[in-house]
Amino acid sequence: MNEPSPTPAAVAGTLYIVPTPIGNLSDLSPRALKILDSVDLIAAEDTRTTGSMLGHFGLRTRMTALHEHNEEQVAGTLLARLAEGQSLALVCDAGTPLVSDPGYRLVAAVREAGLPVIALPGPCAAVTALSAAGLPSDAFSFFGFPPPKPAARRQWLSEHAYWPHTIVLYESSHRIQGLADDLAQALGADRLVAVAREISKRFEQHWRGSAGELPEWLAGDADRLRGEFVVMIGPGPARDTQAHIDALLRPLLRDMEPSRAARVAAEALGERRNAVYRRALALAEAGDSQAPEA
Ligand code: SAM
Repeated sequence: MNEPSPTPAAVAGTLYIVPTPIGNLSDLSPRALKILDSVDLIAAEDTRTTGSMLGHFGLRTRMTALHEHNEEQVAGTLLARLAEGQSLALVCDAGTPLVSDPGYRLVAAVREAGLPVIALPGPCAAVTALSAAGLPSDAFSFFGFPPPKPAARRQWLSEHAYWPHTIVLYESSHRIQGLADDLAQALGADRLVAVAREISKRFEQHWRGSAGELPEWLAGDADRLRGEFVVMIGPGPARDTQAHIDALLRPLLRDMEPSRAARVAAEALGERRNAVYRRALALAEAGDSQAPEA
């Protein structure tokens, strides 16, 4: 590890991305505190939420609002301030800006203008939850919030049933039960899943088990449905592509010509049509139930 450096104040003309606590105010780092104290302006998702955090630390830095509805316009003004040599900090209500939160457009604009962007390491619900989940974490995919409507959510989960890495999702208390019910249905009751609830807060909980057990665990105590959630899904089973193609082609071949069956199967499985067609011909020639080895 390098020598600990002194906590530097903000540098002129720099945009700082500053993560803030997701529950426990002690998680604001000394460096984050120094930057928030020394920048000329803080761009905050909600100035009231950030204002109360700043008040807790005795900071009085000026703020402006930057949220998903005004980011496009505000980005231009903030860019001009940076170009004039002002220093800025970007914060969201809690956690790391840009992670399921606004800021991407601003950062892209500042980078395109060739001005410096410095991101401070700090609280992020997704990474904190994953690090405590006990699910494979060498590779993982973060997808933010799943589709809110049940039909679209089930479809999304089915499409990701064979995803080879741990999936990390955010979910609100209104939808956690619906998501839990859909997990077992779309991915199978045995799929390993984990939930982190109210991280760094008083009633923090981390649960790990099978998709089939999750609805029961949630229903076990009314409090378990409250608060903020990160839901994680363990890696999917290896997809035996050939077995999948055959399983779909066989019934189709009973009613369709090989070319049509191949088109339907290729589209449903996202496979190349030519390869599926060759397989359909082989199955058809052998009689649909007697599959030759591929
Ligand atoms: N940018 C934030 C981050 O770095 O984690 C996430 C913002 S996103 C709008 C809010 C969602 O993050 C919540 O709905 C919940 O899914 C998750 N989240 C935030 N704080 C959490 C906490 N303390 N415990 C569990 N999940 C949390």
